[in-house]
Amino acid sequence: MVVIMEQGAEPAHVDQVIEFVQKQGFTPFVNPGVERKVIAVLGVVDTEKVKLVDRFASLPGVERVTLISEPYKLSSRSYHPENSVVRVGEVEVGGPELVIIAGPCSVESRQQTLEAAHAVKEAGAKMLRGGAFKPRTSPYSFQGLGRQGLEILAEARSETSLPIVTEVMDPIDLPLICEFADVLQVGARNMANFRLLAHLGKAGLPVLLKRGPGSRLKEMLQAAEYIMIEGNAQVILCERGVISFDDATRNMTDINAIPVLKQWSHLPVLLDPSHSTGHARWVPPIARAGVAAGADGLIVEVHPNPAEALSDGAQSLTPEKFAEMVQQVLRVAAAVGREAVTA
Ligand code: PEP
Ligand code: MN
Repeated sequence: MVVIMEQGAEPAHVDQVIEFVQKQGFTPFVNPGVERKVIAVLGVVDTEKVKLVDRFASLPGVERVTLISEPYKLSSRSYHPENSVVRVGEVEVGGPELVIIAGPCSVESRQQTLEAAHAVKEAGAKMLRGGAFKPRTSPYSFQGLGRQGLEILAEARSETSLPIVTEVMDPIDLPLICEFADVLQVGARNMANFRLLAHLGKAGLPVLLKRGPGSRLKEMLQAAEYIMIEGNAQVILCERGVISFDDATRNMTDINAIPVLKQWSHLPVLLDPSHSTGHARWVPPIARAGVAAGADGLIVEVHPNPAEALSDGAQSLTPEKFAEMVQQVLRVAAAVGREAVTA
């Protein structure tokens, strides 16, 4: 249920609604930073409680009350009709400008990361990605450099001024990662790690939430809800391909997810064409498709020497191919009416 206050409603009336919501055994959640106050009424709404709608609606200062029938509330468009913009330094994700995030799958060395960072910046990327804690299928594969990787990322940021996106796998690493990161990535394997999500809701940094490869979009929006209910509204959704019957590509890019998420939710939506295809050859065409479908941006793996990458080399673009791809997606962005600015 959401209680929509009249434009310019008195603070005392807002407080009165909050108090009434609490008295009925619900948790009120006031959307911060919007002109017209909207109060989400969170908790179990049974048929008895639905009858309260009229009582909420008759409180002073209330314009109307609507029931949100979806299982996600704070992430839904009914709660927040305008697009949300997630700000990372000077970068705005979900605004008119297409945002490209790029960098290596893993931070492997100082030289590899700095080289990648300078190359992606030059080509037009607005943020640098790179994993210091890596979720690998095999425990015998490279697991990431941990703290040293974060230090390298920080050095790359100070050289390029690109904000850093890096993955958190375990709440135990969160204080350390928060010292270095600008955006916390939740990997696909952890989309339904609800305790991790709750911790990220308290971390005070924007979160890039990747879709689980077998998760429904409704489940993804409920995962976002776990972060938002802790007070962190800075959530960016990311489609990265789902499991398919076909093994031609690593995953199946669910292009449908982009317009569907944009309709169901106010949160920014990115596409990761690297993990969704698994092969550098397919990354540019699928990146173009994602932008054409309305993605707010892309997150793409780039490695100075993909053949020697310690993770995801096959899907990593060379700096040259990445620069070509950026030019292509900018043309698509302009064609679909999105501002596409580089440098
Ligand atoms: C990654 O971004 O390198 C990664 C591990 O992605 P995903 O969680 O989507 O597999
Ligand atoms: Mn990867």
